[in-house]
Amino acid sequence: MVHETGYYDLLSVEPNASQDEIKKAYRKLALKYHPDKNPNEGEKFKHISQAYEVLSDPKKRDLYDQGGEQAIKEGGMGGGGSPMDIFNMFFGGGGRMQRERKGKNVVHQLSVSLEEMYNGSTRKLGLQKNVICEKCEGYGGKKGALEKCTNCKGRGVQVRVQQVGPGMIQQIQSMCPDCQGQGEKFNSKDRCKNCNGQKVERKKKILEVHIDKGMKDGQKITFHGEGDQEPGLEPGDVIIVLDQKDHPVFQRRDNNLIMRMDIKLVEALCGFRNTIQTLDNRTLVISSQPGEVIKHNDVRCVMNEGMPLYKEPYERGQLIIQFQVEFPEKNWLPEHLMFQLERLLPPREDVMVTDDMEEVELSEADLKSQQKHYSGEAYEEDDDNPRGGVQCQTQ
Ligand SMILES: [Zn+2]
Ligand SMILES: [Zn+2]
Repeated sequence: MVHETGYYDLLSVEPNASQDEIKKAYRKLALKYHPDKNPNEGEKFKHISQAYEVLSDPKKRDLYDQGGEQAIKEGGMGGGGSPMDIFNMFFGGGGRMQRERKGKNVVHQLSVSLEEMYNGSTRKLGLQKNVICEKCEGYGGKKGALEKCTNCKGRGVQVRVQQVGPGMIQQIQSMCPDCQGQGEKFNSKDRCKNCNGQKVERKKKILEVHIDKGMKDGQKITFHGEGDQEPGLEPGDVIIVLDQKDHPVFQRRDNNLIMRMDIKLVEALCGFRNTIQTLDNRTLVISSQPGEVIKHNDVRCVMNEGMPLYKEPYERGQLIIQFQVEFPEKNWLPEHLMFQLERLLPPREDVMVTDDMEEVELSEADLKSQQKHYSGEAYEEDDDNPRGGVQCQTQ
């Protein structure tokens, strides 16, 4: 029984979401609201991180489901990591020690189609980044021309005195704006014209991202040392996170592909033949034998027609087909022909009605509650098809 859903709402997931769904939701939101991309959404970033921290830990999630945010606070389990630490841990950024000698890692999301993950593909990604200025080699100006900053007298800080009350003064220290806290600077004629003394320049860099067959949603591709350059620092990494677009036909579950197929009642009873367009544009023909009855929501599979396995692309998962049987509309058969159909169908069992029974009217059910159950997402919502549990037996 879930009392509070605030953390789930923050991540836009259902309270019964799987760990994978929670991870995926955090990944998308954290990248969207990261201060690098969205400096005005710091609070939102913090809240998402808190929610993820709790929901990604089964113990904390249990506690939260039972007693809400209050229980987390009382259990002393909240607010463990800073939002940045959680982010870096998730996306594989270096620890704190590493970060001091190394520049920041940059994370980008790349939207990829299922076809690209099936067939493999190479994408070119143009990124703006800081590189050491070519002209001055990161020195900022003419060699040996650095002068002591006159504004701060070489201390790098400036001190301002402010009267805060009668007879009370306060000293406020801040970084010297003239030399950016360096204590030294170039005078304007010695300053590098190319980078304006900034030591780095903004350049466009094209990265070639190789999407290998079988790569998964959320998989990271790391370009070591491709982050911003800064003199005296080892550049950080560029981390590309794959984000798989939804496909109109196939849903992916690990290495399996799942699709829905509508068949008519006649096909369900008397056999069918149908085609499937694969993600590499082959056409598969599938059929059932007459007499092999396919029921509504029945599941069948085709071995080795799922997603290729990462690093073993000659192996593939299964293609799982979930059948939806279309029944004919009301009054499709004239009443006087009904007996012919009945003669062919398995016999019915008649009910004996006695005087002590009550006959009641059968009417159309409330449409709204019906739709909730049968709307589009048949795979996720249907109770007959437990989440993640679709499996095929080799026959
Ligand atoms: Zn200065
Ligand atoms: Zn320069």
